[in-house]
Amino acid sequence: MSDNAGRQADVVVLGAGMVGVAAANAARQRGLSTILVDRREPGSETSYGNAGILSSGSIFPLNTPSLWRKLPHYLTNRDPALRWNPGWALRNARWVAGFLANASPARTRPRATALRGLIAASLELHRDWIVNAGVPQRIRETGWLKAWRSDAVAAAKAEQAALADYGIKSEVLDRQAISALEPGILPVFSVGLLHTETASVDSPGAVVKAYAQMFAGGGGEIRRADIISVAPDGEGWHVVLSDGALRARHVVVALGPWSKEFLQPLGYRVPLGFERGYHQHFLPNVARPLSRPIHDCESGFLVTPMEQGIRITTGVELTDRDAPSSSAQLNAVVPLARGVVEFGEAVGEPWRGSRPTLPDGLPLIGPAPRHRGLWLAFGHQHIGFTTGAGTGLAIAAMIGGAAPPFDVAPFSPSRYL
Ligand SMILES: Cc1cc2nc3c(=O)[nH]c(=O)nc-3n(C[C@H](O)[C@H](O)[C@H](O)COP(=O)(O)OP(=O)(O)OC[C@H]3O[C@@H](n4cnc5c(N)ncnc54)[C@H](O)[C@@H]3O)c2cc1C
Repeated sequence: MSDNAGRQADVVVLGAGMVGVAAANAARQRGLSTILVDRREPGSETSYGNAGILSSGSIFPLNTPSLWRKLPHYLTNRDPALRWNPGWALRNARWVAGFLANASPARTRPRATALRGLIAASLELHRDWIVNAGVPQRIRETGWLKAWRSDAVAAAKAEQAALADYGIKSEVLDRQAISALEPGILPVFSVGLLHTETASVDSPGAVVKAYAQMFAGGGGEIRRADIISVAPDGEGWHVVLSDGALRARHVVVALGPWSKEFLQPLGYRVPLGFERGYHQHFLPNVARPLSRPIHDCESGFLVTPMEQGIRITTGVELTDRDAPSSSAQLNAVVPLARGVVEFGEAVGEPWRGSRPTLPDGLPLIGPAPRHRGLWLAFGHQHIGFTTGAGTGLAIAAMIGGAAPPFDVAPFSPSRYL
């Protein structure tokens, strides 16, 4: 390994998930010399294992007023959509209280409006970058189907109206329309809501890698190393790596669920929670292919056709980021998924990741309050594969002294730090 001690750049981006790759790419496109650092290949962690949905409609975080209705059920700890560790909840009472406090009517519209802006900018960028990165075949403009087994017409119509309020289109479908749209699935759903402006990809990790190659092709540098520490250094920053060091005017912390620990030595205590989730791949039945991700709303899982096979992703497990994996949620939902889609044997091992979540469900996007040249870009909960793109664009704009493409004020790190 080379010892690049003291190597200098305008911008060093820490973390090559969707957020970091997007920030590095956008910074490079502004003409800034940029180094992107990760201990793994780009797009190998949370940005690899997600459901691959580029979601137009995920403007409502998990903690909206409807959470209160579901809470008694969630407290039983039997719903595969949400499992929680009581010990973790006690140790993280501040996060839990903040998360619940945000589930109020007054806190819903401002957050949805903020996410609407971030998502719209992100989708525009993805549709551009996926072509420029040479992987247009990976995106499917087939929407995302949310479906209910019960006669939940009222729920589907309520969601449709809520989305329409923000100019987001969707279609309510009955049983026949669902079968016509997705003939490969079994007729278990009574009602569906098709998010028509949503896209999906067949390999989120490969898309991040393609964006990273685009960055490298544009003159950016990718450095594979463990990041040890980040500290102020005169007018800039000193980043210690496992195999050397870097100096930069600007450092972007885009370490997803690992971001928090790097900020603690700088005096920032980030209230970051971990909404863990799992996936497992299965051999597809090629005679009954799927065209889009499907969310079984009442059973708490998603099934998405991926390059690797049928990917089943679970709901939320609230616990410590590095606590041992539990098979409970996958065990609960895989048999239910077999009632929706025909698929064969499992392929590979189950995967686990952590959705990094602030109590208000909005990511931190912007300057660290007490350090010049330190930029925070993490906490994208369930939608970071989508919103990483707009986040990167906004961070690069702010570094360059330009206006971000959406209102970043609601995402300001100073609301917590
Ligand atoms: C089950 C599941 C389903 C999801 N589905 C969707 C979806 O359909 N659509 C959507 O938009 N979002 C989805 N998400 C959310 C999305 O995956 C995340 O919000 C997003 O990937 C976070 O990206 P990131 O770049 O912040 O983090 P990451 O992708 O985790 O990147 C952080 C990087 O930091 C690196 N790193 C950490 N520590 C160090 C260190 N010390 N040294 C060097 N490198 C380090 C890691 O290797 C990693 O590459 C889902 C998440 C889960 C768990």
